[in-house]
Amino acid sequence: MHWQALRCKALRAAAPTVALLMRECEYMRFDVLTLFPEIFSGYTSQSLVKLAIERGLIDVQLHNIRDWAAGRHRVVDDRPFGGGPGMVLKCPPVVECVEAVQRGDKPPVSDVEDGDVEDGDAVDNVVVDGRSTLEPGHLVMLTPQGRRLSQPVVEELAQHRRLVLLCGRYEGFDDRVRQLLHPDELSIGDYVLGGGEVAAMVVIDAVIRLIPGVLGHEQSAVDDSFSTADRWLESGQFTRPREYRGLQVPEVLLSGNHEEIARWRREQSLQKTRQRRADLLPPEGK
Ligand code: SAM
Repeated sequence: MHWQALRCKALRAAAPTVALLMRECEYMRFDVLTLFPEIFSGYTSQSLVKLAIERGLIDVQLHNIRDWAAGRHRVVDDRPFGGGPGMVLKCPPVVECVEAVQRGDKPPVSDVEDGDVEDGDAVDNVVVDGRSTLEPGHLVMLTPQGRRLSQPVVEELAQHRRLVLLCGRYEGFDDRVRQLLHPDELSIGDYVLGGGEVAAMVVIDAVIRLIPGVLGHEQSAVDDSFSTADRWLESGQFTRPREYRGLQVPEVLLSGNHEEIARWRREQSLQKTRQRRADLLPPEGK
C-alpha cells in the first residue's frame, strides 16, 4: 500500500510551482515487527498518526513475526538454555522476518499440512525523490538494555527514510539476534515493559513530530522542551479564560509586545529548567 508515496512523487513531478508541497512530502516509512500487530490499530487510526498517514507523510506497516515461524504451530519461543523462568524468542523466525521485511518480501506462504515454507512474493518497490522507500532502513531493536531514547536520539532517527522497529516479548530475544543483525538497540527508559510495542509507538510518536508537515505548526517542534538549541524546558503556557479560580494569565502575555514576550518566556524557561532539570544546563548556568 504505497499510494501515499506515489502521490508525493506525482506532486513532485507536476510542476516547479509545487515547491512548497514538495517539502511537505518528506516521506518516512515505519515497519513494525511484532507478535501482536493488533495493539497498533487504535494508535494508527487516531490523531496525528492517522492524519500523517492520510496526508501521505508517513506509512506504518505491521508485520507479524509469527508468519515467519515454521511448522504447524508456528512456535516463536522456547525455554532458555541453562534454565530460568519464562520463554525466549527464537532466532529463526525473528532473523528471517527482519531480513525479509528489509528486502521488501511478503511473509512465506506456508503449507500448514506438511510444514513446507516457500518464499513469498516481493512487495512492489516505490521510489521517492530518487530513493527507494524499500531501502533496508535503519533497524531498531526495542530493549531495556539499549541506549536511552532522548530528543537528540529522536532527531537522529528522524534523519532516516525508513525505520524497522523490532519488538520483543516474554523474556526477550535469543542474544544471537543481536549478534547477527547488529541493530540499533534502543530503550525508552530504565524500567521493564511487557513488550516492545509501546516502546515502538513512543519512537514513532516522537519521530513523526519532526517530519515537515506532520504538525500544524513547524515551530512547535522547535519550541518544545528539550528541543531548542539549548534544550531547556519550555515555559508555562496559558489560554483562555484570562482568569480562572483567582489565577491570572501573566500580564506580559496579553501585552502584544513580542520582544517582551520572548524575553519573558526565555527567563521562565531558564528558571524552570534550573529548578527541575539542572542537569540540562551547562555547569556555569546551574
Ligand atoms: N528479560 C529482558 C531484560 O531483562 O532485559 C526484558 C524482556 S521484556 C519483559 C520484553 C520485551 O519488552 C523486550 O524484549 C523489549 O522489546 C520490550 N521492552 C521492555 N522494556 C523496554 C524498555 N525499557 N525499552 C524498550 N523496550 C522494552
